Amino acid sequence: LKERLDGIFKNLRSKGKLTEEDVALALREVRRALLEADVHYKVVKDLVERIRERAVGRDVLDSITPSQQVVTIVFEELRDLMGRDVVPLVISPKPPTHYMLVGLQGSGKTTSCVKIARRLLKGHKPLVVACDHQRPAAVEQLRVLAAQAKVAFFGPEPGEKDPVGVAERALRFAADRLHDVILFDTAGRLHVDEPLMEELQAMKALLSPHEILLVVDGMTGQEAVNVASAFNERLGLTGVVLTKLDGDARGGSALAIRSVTGVPIKMAGVGEHLEDMEPFDGGRMVQRILGMGDVQGLMERVHLAAVGGEMEKMAESLKKNRFTMEDLLTQIQQVSKMGPLDKVMEMLPLPDNLKQLRGAEMDPKRLRHVEAIILSMTPAERRNPDIIKGSRRRRIALGSGTSVQMVNQVLKQHAQMKELWKRFGKGGKRGFKMPKLF
Ligand code: GDP
Ligand code: MG
Repeated sequence: LKERLDGIFKNLRSKGKLTEEDVALALREVRRALLEADVHYKVVKDLVERIRERAVGRDVLDSITPSQQVVTIVFEELRDLMGRDVVPLVISPKPPTHYMLVGLQGSGKTTSCVKIARRLLKGHKPLVVACDHQRPAAVEQLRVLAAQAKVAFFGPEPGEKDPVGVAERALRFAADRLHDVILFDTAGRLHVDEPLMEELQAMKALLSPHEILLVVDGMTGQEAVNVASAFNERLGLTGVVLTKLDGDARGGSALAIRSVTGVPIKMAGVGEHLEDMEPFDGGRMVQRILGMGDVQGLMERVHLAAVGGEMEKMAESLKKNRFTMEDLLTQIQQVSKMGPLDKVMEMLPLPDNLKQLRGAEMDPKRLRHVEAIILSMTPAERRNPDIIKGSRRRRIALGSGTSVQMVNQVLKQHAQMKELWKRFGKGGKRGFKMPKLF
């Protein structure tokens, strides 16, 4: 951001004060950087207004450049929005402490549950409880991760389907064994729905949790705000766990969640390993947001800025002839976000023959399955799908609630598309027939 502003303020030093015009120019860059970092447009609007008020009429200081001055104001405002302090997880003075982890499928609930419990091993005797009984694999996943972290585990009897019943038995189990912090891993869905909310409300009524933590995938961008608002309305969240910040998440969702819902972000997931969880640091996130905004190129149409950034990244990757699962996921998510594929293709700096891709049909329900499958892959698997052999395929099928057959299909189609991109990348054969997508 600073480099961008430097250009605008090149000639300012002689003028003495930041004028309205200077600030307006700078704010246009600020706005663009924030939108590119996935900050919610409403948040950006308010913020830009406040920055304008603070910046206009300021003396141009000798010690720092005008662009640094604006960046400083932006930074302070963003940090206020994000919350200045690290907000720790609550431990009840009167044990046991109950945490409920909620969120969409694939957001990282199960992983985060064990990661947080692991951190509590110092000084506490945590227990993790499997209350996601939609899929047997979910229980198994928690059991395995808990064993790895040497955290105690409680799960349903074979065939037991009622999560509230299991939670009730877990409380007695925990009381007998003197567990003082109990973490409940709950079921997720691909989208917010009524039966899930009712199930979670019933659990809340039983547990009176000290923390209801929404686990949010840091890579989901602006949609994260809607998800957070929906969960907060129904459950009254006490905190957010933002995951996958080790990836190229742009972090704007963090800011938006905090400023739109008022719920503090308490923990950050920063990797696949069980030790990759840390208290969330707002100041660091703001730096990241300002920095990330820099990288993105110029996208003129502001409402398309966020999408455009993603697509540019993808185009980069395609140029290198690597069509990864992440690219496929990006493509699917953009398509479902934007509607017709034609629009996406128009925006891409690609040769005309590639734009034949338009017209390819996609069934939204199929897309959602494909999305679930890719979300259930680890980042390493997404980047290099060749490593996905038998047992990984089974895990992914279970994790996504689909079948090994579907996973195979997605892998095959991905390989086909990759091949296709490669040919187009090399100049391609004219009139190449596009295979039907999903
Ligand atoms: P759930 O469906 O909400 O329970 O999500 P999971 O806990 O099963 O996580 C889904 C995927 O995200 C798994 O492959 C996890 O390894 C991965 N994951 C979760 N948190 C993180 C994180 O902070 N960083 C990375 N890189 N991967 C994560
Ligand atoms: Mg889970």
